[in-house]
Amino acid sequence: MKLDQSQFDNNGEMAPPVSKPVHFFERMTARISGQTAAATSSPPPPNIKTKEALLLLQNYEETRQGWFWSTDKDGNLTYLTEAAAQTVGKTANDLVGTPFTQLFVGDEQARDNQRTLPFLLTKQTKFMELQLQAATTDEDICWWAVSGSPQFDKARNFTGFRGSGTNVTAQRRSVEDTARMAMFDSLTGLANRASMSKKLDTTLAAFQQQKRTCSIMLLDLDRFKIVNDTLGHPAGDKLLKQVAKRLIRAVGDAGEVSRLGGDEFQILLQDWEDRGDLGELANTIISVLSQPYSIEGSRCIIGASVGIAISPFDGLTSEDLVRSADLALYAAKGAGRGRFQFFARDLQQAAEDRRILEEDLRDALSKDELTLSYQPIVNVKNNTVTGFEALMRWNHPERGPISPALFIPIAEDTNLIGPMGEWALQKACKDAAKWPGNIRVAVNVSPIQFADDQLPHLVKQALKTSGLPPARLELEITESVFLGESAETEEMFTALKEIGVRLALDDFGTGYSSLSYLQTAPFDKIKIDQSFVRGANEPGSRNGAIIAAIVALAEALDMETTAEGIEALDELDWIRDLQVSHVQGYVYSMPVKNEQLCEKFESGDWVIMPEGPSKQRSERFSMFRKVGIIHDNSTYKTMVRNLSKTGALIEGIVDVPVGTRFVVDFGDGQIALSTVRRSMEQQQGIEFDQQLVDDGNGGLCTRNRVSPYLIAAAGMNIPNVPANFYPKEVAPQINGALPAFYTTDSWKAG
Ligand code: C2E
Ligand code: MG
Ligand code: MG
Repeated sequence: MKLDQSQFDNNGEMAPPVSKPVHFFERMTARISGQTAAATSSPPPPNIKTKEALLLLQNYEETRQGWFWSTDKDGNLTYLTEAAAQTVGKTANDLVGTPFTQLFVGDEQARDNQRTLPFLLTKQTKFMELQLQAATTDEDICWWAVSGSPQFDKARNFTGFRGSGTNVTAQRRSVEDTARMAMFDSLTGLANRASMSKKLDTTLAAFQQQKRTCSIMLLDLDRFKIVNDTLGHPAGDKLLKQVAKRLIRAVGDAGEVSRLGGDEFQILLQDWEDRGDLGELANTIISVLSQPYSIEGSRCIIGASVGIAISPFDGLTSEDLVRSADLALYAAKGAGRGRFQFFARDLQQAAEDRRILEEDLRDALSKDELTLSYQPIVNVKNNTVTGFEALMRWNHPERGPISPALFIPIAEDTNLIGPMGEWALQKACKDAAKWPGNIRVAVNVSPIQFADDQLPHLVKQALKTSGLPPARLELEITESVFLGESAETEEMFTALKEIGVRLALDDFGTGYSSLSYLQTAPFDKIKIDQSFVRGANEPGSRNGAIIAAIVALAEALDMETTAEGIEALDELDWIRDLQVSHVQGYVYSMPVKNEQLCEKFESGDWVIMPEGPSKQRSERFSMFRKVGIIHDNSTYKTMVRNLSKTGALIEGIVDVPVGTRFVVDFGDGQIALSTVRRSMEQQQGIEFDQQLVDDGNGGLCTRNRVSPYLIAAAGMNIPNVPANFYPKEVAPQINGALPAFYTTDSWKAG
């Protein structure tokens, strides 16, 4: 349809200026209106200027930047620009005489504006830039900004509408994109920190009203920095994308995953509070993320640590809950990574301690507080020592000996591992050079040292200064950062092998335990981790079969095998049966100081006879922890002597009949129902109704806790969960009622 004179109504007026971005259109319509405003009774004959204006409008229509429309008084189209008709898959001729509102998507999809339009039309109200979605036939979405003015004849009778429209799809999309970008992480497509924090705020506020629980997991990738530094940032980005995918798959519908930034992720789990289930999910996540990744042809392995906090127990507001989860994460990382940790109140102190340790570790080297101990590695066939592993020791001036499992990760985080590792290398070579015969020394090399291209130089330097033959130095490398097929890793292996040192794969069985490294990397030895050896005792464990496979493969590739952490004689027998060639463990010797070693070296070859308990005991946690025992209406203070998932040995109450029901109050809302199964004067063996679960930190905890809501219902208020929120003694001591049992204190006194 072309614009012609008939499109002007009686008084010859065109619609007033409409869509703002259409400056040209504004000017043109203004011109026509200005020209015709003076018109009186009959339509003016189109003069040259009007013709010119019409042509310009027509050209403008053809540019498809904007379109015009007009209706009769019933709202049926009397004019429509061809381009607009095409957008809805029709021609203008088809549409004339049909309702104007049909140009836009129907009622069922209608948004607010679509519903407003018919109202405006019937009310004969002028409207400007109303954003409406075109009723397109294909899947392409088109948005128009539509303006319109009611028209009246001289008698002020309404004659219809006239107006214009412009396509605003692109603007709208960019607004939507900006909104999406503000809510989502552009790299992984996960919700970002801002939107997750908002969501957590609203969830917690609602859940507090509804007395529901909600957990969050904070997750941090272990050793991500090494991948980023070694393979580059684009590779790091690719890794993060894969991590996001695996996370979504692992969590499924159970919760919502977001990326907080860097290598930090958060998972929101509504109505989750069971610590058994949470621990299981955390373990699944950790193991899924610890499987190898293939990035740009390189294989790499990272790990993950998880901190868990549960509302309302560990915080009512999002700020508190996140702070709790953060502390738990910090503790999980501090405890050796690759693990989860529930928030507990004493973590605050632990975090403080760790920060002080970090400070102190900076000076440990210069203050001579570091030493090396040596633990024999013994050939099991003839009990002959073939070498020693150098293990770093830190004797803290105030806190005494600190475990390397605690301070090595701190050293790795604070870049102290470089100088500390170099010191260990030099010292171990120097000590070993004085040992007789061919006895070897094994030195642990952190992945961070391994990624440093200065390592071969440092090794050469240490050998040269000490005079130790290269074949007597063994470097222990963990599989955890095996950047297997990356060129740098291969170069490093080649450089080290050229020096002539031996290489051992340490802690095999704790990570992904891929046998494929063994074929590709030039290892001389595999060290099977103690957790793998110990786990082999558990029913249904396939570890024994796997160890047999490792041994067979190692023999075929001419490698030695060492089983670590053998403590008992039964384990030693079992390891011998599996044909493992070497053993390192307390069954032969604890790590000892170099001076003690040298004293024993006088006889040349060194033979140690294994000694130790005949059986490895099943896992029980020996401890001295105070707990409350609630019985009838009395609370007793007792000590837990040892604790397992199924029961505990408690001490402090006297002469309790077998079968007595006890409620154990572990504090922090952890309550366990139990039955006395054995009774020995002041000690009782109790069995829990419901098994305890792993607390992620080598300890145990109850699955559920008494909800603060419940306690609030009993008359206490919970503005927030304060530090000493949970009363230690849940059952009230009823006035006048006598406790059923004596305690050791009253017993002794009596
Ligand atoms: P690792 O290299 O796997 O060392 C073996 C660990 O097992 C040592 O723990 C050793 O004392 C312990 N062990 C040996 N036999 C037994 C046993 O029969 N039972 C038990 N329960 N444990 C046994 P340690 O000395 O606490 O060292 C822990 C880890 O710290 C080492 O594990 C190693 O990864 C790291 N580490 C120690 N020294 C250094 C070092 O100089 N540099 C680096 N980068 N890491 C080190
Ligand atoms: Mg080692
Ligand atoms: Mg090891």
